[in-house]
Amino acid sequence: GLAAPPEAGFVLRTLEDAGHSAWVVGGWVRDSLLGRPVHDVDVATSARWEDGARALRAAGIPVVETGTAHGTVTAVVGGVPVEVTTYRVDGAYSDARHPDAVRFVDSVDDDLARRDLTVNAMAWHPERGLRDPFGGRDDLARGLVRAVGDPDARMAEDALRVLRAVRFSARLGFSVEPATQAAVDAHAPGLRHVSRERIGSELRALLATGRGGGALRTQRPALFCAVPELAAMDGFPQRTPYHSMDVLGHVARVMDYVEVYTGGTATEHLRWAALLHDVGKPDRLTYGPEDTAHFFGHPARSRDIAREVMARLAVPRAVAVPALALVRLHDRPVADDDRSVTSILRDLDRLAPAMAPGLFFELMALKRADAAGKAPAYRGYAVEVDALEARGRALLTAGVPLRPSDLAVSGADVMGALGLPPGPAVGRALRAALDAVHRGEVGPGRDELLRWIEEHGDDSSVCG
Ligand code: ATP
Ligand code: MG
Repeated sequence: GLAAPPEAGFVLRTLEDAGHSAWVVGGWVRDSLLGRPVHDVDVATSARWEDGARALRAAGIPVVETGTAHGTVTAVVGGVPVEVTTYRVDGAYSDARHPDAVRFVDSVDDDLARRDLTVNAMAWHPERGLRDPFGGRDDLARGLVRAVGDPDARMAEDALRVLRAVRFSARLGFSVEPATQAAVDAHAPGLRHVSRERIGSELRALLATGRGGGALRTQRPALFCAVPELAAMDGFPQRTPYHSMDVLGHVARVMDYVEVYTGGTATEHLRWAALLHDVGKPDRLTYGPEDTAHFFGHPARSRDIAREVMARLAVPRAVAVPALALVRLHDRPVADDDRSVTSILRDLDRLAPAMAPGLFFELMALKRADAAGKAPAYRGYAVEVDALEARGRALLTAGVPLRPSDLAVSGADVMGALGLPPGPAVGRALRAALDAVHRGEVGPGRDELLRWIEEHGDDSSVCG
C-alpha cells in the first residue's frame, strides 16, 4: 500500500473536515505506484479555491494564491508546499493551445478525465485507496503511455500533449500505445500553435530524462515539429571516412554516450550541446575528391543555430552559455601538448566565464562521446581525449593562469618593471607574459615573471 506524505494527509483531512472531498492526484500517484522517488504532491478537491483556502488558513496553514484562475492555491505545511486545485474540466479548445475557459466540477472522475495520459490520471486516498477510471495501473504494469479517452481528440485539443507523451515515454522507459502514437505523429504539426516557452520547458524536461537519444530515433515527427532545425540533420549524408551514419543518427548516438560517460548525470548544458553540436553541418558541406564530404566551419555555424534554437525556446542563459561554448569547441583539432590544452581552457573561460575548469571535463566527455559515435575505425580517438584530459587535469591542479588577472604579477608591477605609464601597453605586456607561461617559456612564479617582463615586456609595444 501507498502512504501519503503527512503534509498531504493533513491537507486532505482539513478539506474533508470542512465538508469537501479531496484526493492526491497526478505524478505522486504514478511515481509512488512505480516505487520511484516522488518530488512533490498535488491534491485535487471539490472545494472552490476560496473555500479551500479559508479552511486551510483556519487550520493555521499558510496559503499562497499561486494560480487561482485555474483554481490552484499552494498550502505550505511545515515548510512543504502542497498544490491544491479545484476539480475542473477544461472548456473547448478553439486554438490547439489553451482552453477557452476552465469549468469547476464536483466529481474527481471528471477531473481525471481531462488529464493527458492514463498513468497521470489516477487519484489516491489514504482510506478509499486508488481511483483509476482509465486503467492507468494496468498501463503502468504493461509499460504503456496511453492518452486518456480518444487520443486524436486529446492531441488536437492541446498539441503540447504530443511532447508530453514523448517525454513520459522517455522518462518511464515506456512505449507509446499504437493509437496514441498515431495521434502523436498526426498532431505534431499542431505544435506550431503552442507557445515556444511551453515547448521549451517540455524539451528541457525531456532532456532531463537522460534518454534524449532514444527519443530522437523513435519520435521524429514530434521532435522535428518542436525544433525544425533537427529535421535538417535527418538523413543528411556525411560522406567522410569518419562517419557511418547520417548526422541525426550520429547525434542520437552521441547523446547516448554522453550519458554513458557521465554515469547518467550529465548536466543540462552538456545535453543541449550533444543535441545541437552538429546542427550546422547541413549548412556547411562541400564535396572533396572522390565524392567525400567536408564540413567547413561547421562548429561556428552549429553554435549560431544552437543559439537561435535555445533563445527561441527560452532556455535560461545559465544553460545556453556553457552549451554554446561546448558546441563551439567540440571539434577543435588538438595536439598532444600543453598549449593545445591551455588554448582550449582560455577559450572556454572567454565563452563561459568562471565555468572553465568544470566545463573542460564536460568538453572531454562530449569529445569522447563524439568519437564513440563515429565509424568504428575512428573511435580510437577517445584515447587521444584521455591524454588531453590528463594534461588538462595536471594544468588545472597546478593552477595554470587563464586570464592576465590570474598572473602572479599585476599591472602595477608591469608599470614599475618597465617604467610605463598606465595605458594599453600594460595590458599587452601582461597578455604576452600569459602567452609565455602557456608556451612553457617562463614559470608562473612572481620573480620569474618579473624578470621575463623586464627582458621581453616592451617587445610587443614596438609592434603595437
Ligand atoms: P512531474 O514529475 O514531471 O512533475 P507530473 O505528472 O506532476 O510529473 P506535471 O507536468 O507537473 O506532471 O502535471 C501535473 C498533472 O497535470 C499531470 O500528471 C497531468 O495529469 C496533468 N497535466 C499537465 N499538463 C497537462 C496537459 N497539457 N493536458 C492534460 N493534462 C495535463
Ligand atoms: Mg508535477
